[in-house]
Amino acid sequence: MVQLCVDDKCPCGSGRVPRECCLKAGGELRPMATVTRAPVPQTDIRNGGCYASGLADCSADISREHYISHALLRLLSVEGRVTIDGFPWQNAAAVSSVPPATLTGKILCSRHNSALSPLDAVAAMLFRRIDEFHHEIRDRKYENRFFLCNGHDIERWMLKTLCGAVVSGNAEMRSGQSNWRPPLEWVQILFGENRFQRVGGCTFTVRLAASPVSSVDLSSSRSPTRRLECMGRAYSSMMNALFSPCPHRPRT
Ligand SMILES: [Zn+2]
Ligand SMILES: [Zn+2]
Repeated sequence: MVQLCVDDKCPCGSGRVPRECCLKAGGELRPMATVTRAPVPQTDIRNGGCYASGLADCSADISREHYISHALLRLLSVEGRVTIDGFPWQNAAAVSSVPPATLTGKILCSRHNSALSPLDAVAAMLFRRIDEFHHEIRDRKYENRFFLCNGHDIERWMLKTLCGAVVSGNAEMRSGQSNWRPPLEWVQILFGENRFQRVGGCTFTVRLAASPVSSVDLSSSRSPTRRLECMGRAYSSMMNALFSPCPHRPRT
């Protein structure tokens, strides 16, 4: 079991000690969810180019948004470029190397774009940690440690990425519907005005060799190779759940 000392930094990465951060009275460590509500007062503007216009709280201008977090794209970049395939604007089976700025769309007003940006920071930290764990396992440094992030933030980041990818025309609805906009309930969840239903949120299944598992439990796999495989499959399951090839051209 991992033990924390009073002077250790909080495993959420805030830089504070746990008692001034995520440590609750009962000894539980629980990071706070990020605030994504746009600041008051409400603007009463419905910007037709913003997929959150149903909240009637837009700014008049539209911003250019990375539908996959810019910080995550930077993490995946090699010499300032990311390798992509399967996008509708690529030739079939083509693999391209593009700068992250290519993967943007005008899908949110600037007010709603900046309200969601804290979710990008949480996701970037999660993927940075996954990357660090990969390297530690590869280098056979088995440190006994863990880190914390708020699961509700990750769920909302996934929902944000899903909405951005579909609205920008870079992922498709299974129904083939074009010009899709997220339902108001989803937008309310994203901007902190509603919660996921009990059965909603982030769950997915990974299968290791012949034995199916119902959740990602890295601690139960003793073999480093098996852990690495589990992590890789979890990551790709998550990405496959989010993105599928799309026949429509992206909106510009
Ligand atoms: Zn903390
Ligand atoms: Zn807006």
